[in-house]
Amino acid sequence: MEIKAMITPNMNYANLKDSYLFYNISQKIKAYLEKNPDKHLYRMGIGDVSLPLCDAVIKALHEGVNDQAEKESFHGYMPECGAPFLRETIADYYGRRGVFLSSEEVFVSSGASDELGDILDLFDRSGTALVIEPAYPAYVDANVMAGRKIEFLASNKENGFLPEPTEDLKADLLYICSPNNPTGAVFSREKLKKWVDYANKNGSVILFDAAYEAFIEDDSLPHSIFEIEDAKTCAIEICSLSKTAGFTGTRLGYTVIPKTLERNGMNLNAMWVRNRTTKTNGVSYIIQKGASAVFTPEGQEQIHNNIRIYKNNAKVFMKALDELGIWYCGGKNAPYIWMKCPEGVSSWEMFDKLLNEIQVVGTPGSGFGACGEGYFRFSMFGDPEDTKEAAKRITELLK
Ligand code: PLP
Repeated sequence: MEIKAMITPNMNYANLKDSYLFYNISQKIKAYLEKNPDKHLYRMGIGDVSLPLCDAVIKALHEGVNDQAEKESFHGYMPECGAPFLRETIADYYGRRGVFLSSEEVFVSSGASDELGDILDLFDRSGTALVIEPAYPAYVDANVMAGRKIEFLASNKENGFLPEPTEDLKADLLYICSPNNPTGAVFSREKLKKWVDYANKNGSVILFDAAYEAFIEDDSLPHSIFEIEDAKTCAIEICSLSKTAGFTGTRLGYTVIPKTLERNGMNLNAMWVRNRTTKTNGVSYIIQKGASAVFTPEGQEQIHNNIRIYKNNAKVFMKALDELGIWYCGGKNAPYIWMKCPEGVSSWEMFDKLLNEIQVVGTPGSGFGACGEGYFRFSMFGDPEDTKEAAKRITELLK
């Protein structure tokens, strides 16, 4: 039977480019393992964690489950914007770094990906989004789905993959990810201030992705855009416990929208309250209970023990690349290392070479935007022994 098209779908979806990156990687791995079934792969491609949740979180999750078993402690629907106990806990966490927020400026979410897409509801679709490339692919796709025009700003080795705004840039919304995925580069306070000034001057809003803030070890670098003067009138921060505390499969994030953020007489914090109370029924009580344990002294110590294991992987890898004299950025304050491929070798050629010759899997830089061509990303979330062996094999191959 022929179906008459009664409703027009969102035709912007027809403008999405197929995401071949991780599909191609998995196909190449599959083909390689079919031919070489007894080979072990050293996987440094995917940005997923390998360590389990820490004890403090597991204990709190169990308590949350037990609470749900008793009439007196049972929770039904949770407040849409987050449980007050968790909003306060997160506001305190910011306060310890000198960023003073009211708990009503913190919104609990199911993760940064959800928020990066959903937050676009706050903005008119006729605006332009600026994406600094190489970039986390969701920034682009979420705006294509919304039909928004996208401008790209290419970053490069010369600016350390940390570009500055220029007078001719036109952006209503702009994405800044620091520490960056995929490059691992981190904006200094001075450089971030330039973007804050640009946004305030032009009436833009910065969407600051702080998913990797917990990996920063240099005290001089900002963990939050709100450590920068005047950011509370031009920025929204989106964060996640995925990488910080191993919540990739447990799911919890948070978003900060200052009450002072206004455009065209509209208050974005109030708009987001209206959005959340319409479009969600909150995050599970059990998960919020587990998440609150991340911010206790015990939880902080335990998650940082795990982060140290990932950072140690990075140290092993950086040492190998330093000895080889290969240019890279990241690793020190981020769980990614962004390496320059040898002269004349493309990102995918590098992928094939590493897979076929030394069984190391990484991610071709060209998958994060055209200016990523000739670069390669290594994730430090893998097994320490595998990372050591991968570094050894790379040294042998590229020396
Ligand atoms: N933002 C960046 C830069 C990421 O790399 C990721 C995940 O890899 C996310 C957001 C998504 O995080 P979540 O697991 O909270 O959805």
